[in-house]
Amino acid sequence: MTPTLAAINQRLNAVAEKIDAITKAPPQLIAVGKGFDAAMMRPALVAGQRHFGENRVQEAAAKWPQLKDEYPDCHLHLIGPLQTNKAEQAVRLFDTIHTVDRMRLARALDAAMTKINRRPACLIQVNLGEEQQKSGVAPQYLEAFIDQCRRETTLPIIGLMTIPPLNDLPACHFALLAKLARRYNLPELSMGMSGDFETAIAFGATMIRLGTAIFGPRNKP
Ligand SMILES: *Cc1c(COP(=O)(O)O)cnc(C)c1O
Repeated sequence: MTPTLAAINQRLNAVAEKIDAITKAPPQLIAVGKGFDAAMMRPALVAGQRHFGENRVQEAAAKWPQLKDEYPDCHLHLIGPLQTNKAEQAVRLFDTIHTVDRMRLARALDAAMTKINRRPACLIQVNLGEEQQKSGVAPQYLEAFIDQCRRETTLPIIGLMTIPPLNDLPACHFALLAKLARRYNLPELSMGMSGDFETAIAFGATMIRLGTAIFGPRNKP
């Protein structure tokens, strides 16, 4: 085994053990590959990991088409902000899109899905901390946004996603996201990163997004 393969295997096993210790219904583990190249994805694929997250369409487009040919059962999640003009590219490349947050984007995704006859599952990103620099629907507009998506598009909306504010305790944000998802009848909860995934699981996360915990520290912030 190369050192990378051994290291990634070991981190995946450590994460799996922590998850097992908390819950009998493990969430989907999404390995976040942003900032790492295709060569770093291979050891995770060899170890059996199949769900991967990327936060930029361009980076994913450079990295994943060939890996997807080699591992047709791998599943790609878009977890970063999406520009409307990249909606079609995103629909071609990704299997789940976690960051639907405005009607213009919802309509562009809907049109792209109809055009190319491919319907990735969608989650709505909620900006629970109402942070200016973060994307996501503000909580007070969430109900109207979900209604409008359901009335005016055919997007397969399956859940909610959030990134809690850096300086808050994540638990209250995870609890609130879970409550909102129940209220609007959405089964999937994408919440929890390397630093807080155990808390997220305790509050019902069904998808956790781990980068550092699997691939190690990234160079870029
Ligand atoms: C980078 C990123 C992650 C993973 O972050 P880590 O702290 O490295 O686990 C999860 N979710 C989103 C939206 C990200 O951009």
